[in-house]
Amino acid sequence: MNPGPITGGCQCGAVRYALHVDAVEKPHVCHCRMCQRATGGVFAALAGCAKKNLEWTKGAPALFQSSSLAKRGYCRDCGTPLSFAYDLPEARVYVTIGSLDDPELAAIEIQYGVESKLSWVEFCEDVEQKRTGGTPEEAQFFADMKSNQG
Ligand SMILES: [Zn+2]
Ligand SMILES: [Zn+2]
Repeated sequence: MNPGPITGGCQCGAVRYALHVDAVEKPHVCHCRMCQRATGGVFAALAGCAKKNLEWTKGAPALFQSSSLAKRGYCRDCGTPLSFAYDLPEARVYVTIGSLDDPELAAIEIQYGVESKLSWVEFCEDVEQKRTGGTPEEAQFFADMKSNQG
């Protein structure tokens, strides 16, 4: 159990955040093509909390509306990807696990977007893997999504 807020921030220090929770929720990686492009990495690693429990304690992220469904936060000074959230009030906000001061607090529990998982990415093979829109409800959610990635 983490004694205080779970903290993190960007690489230049201009943006800092605190998650007012005892433990991060749903730590995961997403292999989807949009997360690959948004992070410039080969997957996104994200851990969440309720939106009301995330406090930006120094600066604030710039936000990119990466699709009609979600925004991604990043430091406008150094470019570190910091957050992802669907545009739904009840949705969680996720921070990038690599931006946490202690990423060990966010061991991944599930993998998403495995339809785009790169063939040579092999890790955490025992962790559950799901495709994007893999259930009828999720397929409906993504059906009308418009990407803003160029
Ligand atoms: Zn920065
Ligand atoms: Zn993704």
